[in-house]
Amino acid sequence: MTSIENEVLERVEPEAAVKLLQKLIRTRTTNPPGHELILAEWVADYLKKIGLQVELMPFGEKRGNVIARIKGSGKKPGLIFSAHFDTVPEGEIPWTYPPYGAEIHDNKIFGRGAADMKGGMAAMIMAAAALAKTPGLKLKGDLIIAFTSGETSHLEGVKLLVESGKIKDAGAFCVSEPTGLEVLIAEKGALWMKAKARGRTAHSSMPERGENAIFNMVNFLYRAQRYKPAFHSHHLLGDPTITVGIINGGVLINVVPDTCTAEIDIRIPPPLKPKELFREYKKLAGQTVDLDLIDYKLPVDTDPADPFVKICLDAAEQITRKKKVPGGTPYFTDGTIICNEYNLPLVIIGPAPLWMTHQYDEYVEISDLIKGIKIFSLIALRYLEASP
Ligand SMILES: [Zn+2]
Repeated sequence: MTSIENEVLERVEPEAAVKLLQKLIRTRTTNPPGHELILAEWVADYLKKIGLQVELMPFGEKRGNVIARIKGSGKKPGLIFSAHFDTVPEGEIPWTYPPYGAEIHDNKIFGRGAADMKGGMAAMIMAAAALAKTPGLKLKGDLIIAFTSGETSHLEGVKLLVESGKIKDAGAFCVSEPTGLEVLIAEKGALWMKAKARGRTAHSSMPERGENAIFNMVNFLYRAQRYKPAFHSHHLLGDPTITVGIINGGVLINVVPDTCTAEIDIRIPPPLKPKELFREYKKLAGQTVDLDLIDYKLPVDTDPADPFVKICLDAAEQITRKKKVPGGTPYFTDGTIICNEYNLPLVIIGPAPLWMTHQYDEYVEISDLIKGIKIFSLIALRYLEASP
C-alpha cells in the first residue's frame, strides 16, 4: 500500500459509518411507494458537508436522485459509485428486531435495507468522506456518486439520470449491491412478458363445446419452460431461467374459461438479447396466446482482463485477506442502464451477503461494512490515480 493509501484508510471512521447507516435505515424508503426524496435530500446535505459538489435531482412523486463529485484534474474519465435509496417492503414474516429500528446485536446492524443496499451506500459515502478529508489529495478523474430512486421497481431513477447526460464522462461503474465482498463482473438481463390466452366459454359439463383458455395458457407455459435458445452456457452466469409470477383466469368452477393471463420473468445471460428472445417466445405462443412485452433489461458482461476488474480484485483481496475470483449475478442492477449506455466495465461489490437480499431479519456485519469502506477507498484511489 502507498503512503497516500494509508493516509486515506486512517481517515475511515467506523463510528460515523455505523451512525450513518442507522440514519439511512431509519428513514423509511420502501418501494412501493418509494418516496425516497426525504432521504435523497438528507444524503445530499451530508455529502455537501463532507465537501463534495452535490446536485439533487427530484422527480415523480417525492422521489429523487443524488449526483455528487470529488473533482479530479480531468486527465482521466470518472469513476461512478452507484447505490439506490429504495428498499423492498419488510414482508409478512415478523422480524426479530424492528425493520426500521437499525438495532445493533452481535456486531450486526439489523434493518430493511441493511444489505440491499443502504449498507453499501453508507460504505461508499464514508469512502468518499475519507478521500475528501485527506489534505492535498489529487485525483486524475472525478469520483462520481450516483445514487438513485426506484431501482427495485423499474429503474426509473437511473433512466432519468442517463437521459440527463450528467454522468457521461465516466470510465468505470461500481455498484455496492450485496455480494459478501466478492467481486462480480457480469449480471443477467431480464425479459418481462404478459401472456393472454384466449378460449370460448361453455358449460363445464360439455367442455367440448368451448375452448379452455387456462389449458391454452398451461400448454404455452410448458412450451416456454422447455424452450432452449441456441446458446452456449455463459462462463459466469450459466443459462437463462424462466418463472411465472402471476396467473389469472376463470370465473366459476362450472364455466369453461375464455381468458387467462400470466406474467413471465425470464433472466438472460449475454450474449442473448431480450428483444430477439421475445420474438422466439412469440412464435411459441401460437394462435391462441397473445404475448406482450412488459419491460426488458440488457445483460452486462465485463472482460475479466479489464484493468478496472484487476483494481477491484486487488483491493478486495488486500482488505479481506482472501483470494478473489470474478463472479456473476442473476439479478440486475443500475448497471444494466449505465454500463450498456456508456459501454463501461461493471463491478458489483457490497458488504452484506448476496443471499441476504430481500430476506426478513436483514443485516450487515459491522466489520464487513468497515471493510467495504476501505475497499471502495482503494478502488477510487487506484482507478483515479491519486497522488498526494
Ligand atoms: Zn438492490
